[in-house]
Amino acid sequence: MKAEIICVGTELLLGDILNTNAQFLAKELAALGITVHHQWVVGDNESRLAELVQQAMQRSDLLVFSGGLGPTADDLTKETVARCFGDTLVLEPEILQQIQQYYASTGRHMPQSNEKQALIPQQGGWFDNKNGTAPGIWFYRQGKRAVLLPGPPNELCPLWHEKVKPWLAAEQNQALYSLVLRITGIGESHVEELVGHLFENANPTAAIYAKTGEVHIRITAMAENQQRGEEMCRAYAEKFYALLGNAIYAENDCTLQQAVVESLKKQGLTIATAESCTGGLVSQMITQVAGASEVFGFGFCTYANQAKHKLLGVSTELLDTVGAVSSQVASQMATGAAKVSGADIGVSLTGIAGPGGGTEQKPVGLVYIAACKGDDVYVAKLLVGNRSRETVRTCAAKRALDMARRLALGLPLPHTKKFSATEIAVLEE
Ligand code: ATP
Ligand code: MG
Repeated sequence: MKAEIICVGTELLLGDILNTNAQFLAKELAALGITVHHQWVVGDNESRLAELVQQAMQRSDLLVFSGGLGPTADDLTKETVARCFGDTLVLEPEILQQIQQYYASTGRHMPQSNEKQALIPQQGGWFDNKNGTAPGIWFYRQGKRAVLLPGPPNELCPLWHEKVKPWLAAEQNQALYSLVLRITGIGESHVEELVGHLFENANPTAAIYAKTGEVHIRITAMAENQQRGEEMCRAYAEKFYALLGNAIYAENDCTLQQAVVESLKKQGLTIATAESCTGGLVSQMITQVAGASEVFGFGFCTYANQAKHKLLGVSTELLDTVGAVSSQVASQMATGAAKVSGADIGVSLTGIAGPGGGTEQKPVGLVYIAACKGDDVYVAKLLVGNRSRETVRTCAAKRALDMARRLALGLPLPHTKKFSATEIAVLEE
């Protein structure tokens, strides 16, 4: 099935708001196995919208609209699409009653203009919107479908998940099931190298999404029912597990920090952080997880050399000779954090986030990350490359979290060098 996304709104055209609905719909349609060939933004202008709809109807089987379903005169998506699809709008008493009730419940009188939100296509249909007054609308004509959704994302997204997505799958006489594998510690191209051949499958489909510091693989099965879809996804996921192993840190909505907190809880361990170039990002991520206090109590933000020395006991001699951005300092920061806090695991980061401050020996994007547990210290040298400050910091923070996860679970720590806590951790080649 070929689809086009049409977002209506002058605000979008002027750049006043970010078109997050287009991104959301594009991802969702892809997961349904529906190919999106075009995305459009058009202002609140009837003739331009009509022209676009007529052209899109020639090319594609499904048109998904966002916006312009409100009660005011410039909200004209439904009226325009109705004309293009040769349908007539009629008043649906059930919707009118809902809108009236909504106004009554807020102690207000329904303005006459809201009545047009209760108009539905005679041949098409509607989807109940629990979060607003404009219902979702669908039109059908000679194998072509249009789905119209309200613009506010807090209405569009739930309406999509609850009503439209299952409807589209059912239209294809299928149920859909999706599973997301979350991977960290290896880059997108390496993942492609290992499992690239698994992306060439018709059903389940598998798609790769590169995120900052991690990679997601979404497996989606179309099946006669949900249970069969789940079985198909699970069986296909096993092929990825066999090749990627414990680089897969979690599934679906579980974030890396959640996986770390879970792993620490499971093992009855605590963690402390010592951060320089990330300025507290790792501790911020850990404390995003509800219940993190069970495993986390100390996060040292040691940006200056004095702070590294005073709070963590990093040797001033090392700071003066090899510098703060070094494997030696990273390792002393991690062991210092664990010692001062009494935590089981210490992790540390020290590097050059950029954009300035890089040299030939120590370029922007170089971050030393250390993780210690007991007498063992593991040090990694991360080279993010000359990317944005935010990217460098996020990639480094995720690498540190992954090292903590691996240490907590007793998994190997690839691309690190192991030292004993009393050794000076010299990683430089
Ligand atoms: P309303 O009943 O609020 O008028 P509507 O369906 O007519 O809803 P619009 O008027 O086009 O939708 O947009 C309402 C609001 O929804 C916008 O001000 C904006 O905040 C948000 N919105 C609209 N389109 C998008 C989009 N493509 N991406 C993100 N947000 C959007
Ligand atoms: Mg509007």
